[in-house]
Amino acid sequence: TVTTTTRDFRNSAEVRPIPTIVGADLSVPVRGGRLVGYANLDYAASAPCLTPVSEAVAAALPAYSSVHRGAGYASQLTTARYEQARHTVRAFVGARPSDAAVFVRNTTDATNLLARCLPEGTTVVVFETEHHASLLPWPDVVRLPAPAFPGEAVRAADEALAAVEGPALLVVTAASNVTGELWPVAALAHIAHRHGARIFVDAAQLVPHRPLNLTALDLDYVAFSGHKLYAPFGAGVLVGRPDWLTAADPYLRGGGASKAVAQQVEWCEDAEQRHEAGTPNVLGAIALAAACDALSATGWTPLVREEERLLSRLRAGLATIEGVRELGLWGPEHPRVGIVSFVVEGRTAREVAEALSAEYGIGVRDGKFCAHPFVSHLLGGLEDGRCQDGTASAVRASIGVGTAEEHVDRLVAALRELASRS
Ligand code: PLP
Repeated sequence: TVTTTTRDFRNSAEVRPIPTIVGADLSVPVRGGRLVGYANLDYAASAPCLTPVSEAVAAALPAYSSVHRGAGYASQLTTARYEQARHTVRAFVGARPSDAAVFVRNTTDATNLLARCLPEGTTVVVFETEHHASLLPWPDVVRLPAPAFPGEAVRAADEALAAVEGPALLVVTAASNVTGELWPVAALAHIAHRHGARIFVDAAQLVPHRPLNLTALDLDYVAFSGHKLYAPFGAGVLVGRPDWLTAADPYLRGGGASKAVAQQVEWCEDAEQRHEAGTPNVLGAIALAAACDALSATGWTPLVREEERLLSRLRAGLATIEGVRELGLWGPEHPRVGIVSFVVEGRTAREVAEALSAEYGIGVRDGKFCAHPFVSHLLGGLEDGRCQDGTASAVRASIGVGTAEEHVDRLVAALRELASRS
C-alpha cells in the first residue's frame, strides 16, 4: 500500500500552534535604497505560503507522476496523494458524502464550470456586489442591486426567486473581497430552497478567515482558490451536488474524462473524472489540502482571535486619520474578515498604494478589485474616490496568518503622514 503525507486533522486531538509563513523575513528596497521588512497587507489578492504547505509540496517532489494512469510507484503514490487531497478539502468544507469535489484552477474556473453545467433554462440570481468571477459567467442572469442591510438581501432574493419560473440558482459571496463583510448565507440558503432553487457560495475570501460547513449551512455548491488560502500553486475547487455536474458535457474534452473512445465517445459518469480531463495540477491540490490541514490543526479560535485583534487595531488606527474614509455596505459594526478598503481625501488610490510601496515597503492593492459595480456603488458621489482616469477606485489592506502588529502600525503611521502632506 502507498501511504501519503497529508492528514485530516478535523477529528484529531492534536492541536498545533499558528503556522508560520514562508518569506516572513523578506526585505524590500524603499526610496533612497534602504531595505525594510516587507509589510504584506495584500492577502486578499494572494496570501503568502504557509510553511507546512511548502513542506508538503517539497515532500511530493521526489516521486511524482501522472495520476490515475500508471502502475509504477510514483504514479500510485501521486494518485493516492491527489485523492487524499480531495478527501481533505471535502472534509475542510464539511461536504456531504454524496458531494463532488472537482479540482479546477481557481474560483473563476469553478464558477465557469458550474455555469456550463446549469440545466437548460436556469435563471441565475446574483447581487451586483459580487466579484466578477461570480458576477459574469452566467448565461441568463437577474442582477440585484446592493442591499442596504443584510435583511434586505434576503428579502430581495426572496422576491427575485419567487418571480423565476423553472430552475434557479442564487449566487452569493460569503465574505466580500472589497469590504470583508460577511453575508447571511444561511438565511439566503433557506430562502433559495424554499423556492426550490439552489445556492452557490463564493467562499474565496471566507475560507482563509473562517470555518465553512456546507452541510450545516445547507449550501448546494461552494468554491474557493488555493492561492488565497496560503497555497500558492494554482489549484481551486468546486464542491457540491453531483447531479448537474454529471448531466453536463465535460468541461474539457480529452483523456481522463473519456471512458471509451471509438467513433463515439463514452464520457466518465463520475462528476470529478468527467470534468478533470488532462493531467491535473497535483501539486496545487496537495498544497491546497496541506493548507486546509494546517488551519484545521491549529483550530479556528486562535486564528480568528488574532485576526480580529489586528483588524480592530487597523480600523481603529484608520479612524483616527483625518481624510481617510473606510468603505462598508452595512455599517462599521457589521462583522467582517480581515479586509478593509478605504479612500484618502485628495489622493488617488494609485498614488497612495504607490507611495506605501515605494516609501514604506508596504504592499496593498488599489483599484476596483474585480468588483466594478460594487466599488462604484460604494464610492458613488465621493470626490476622493477618483482614479486618475476619473472612475471610482479605493485602496485595500488585507491581513491573515503571519500579519504582525508592526505591519498594521506601519500602515497607519504611513497613511497619517501621507494624508497630512499638502
Ligand atoms: N471571488 C472572490 C470573492 C474573490 O475575492 C476572488 C479573487 O479576488 C475571486 C472570486 C476569484 O478568484 P481567482 O482569481 O482565484 O479565480
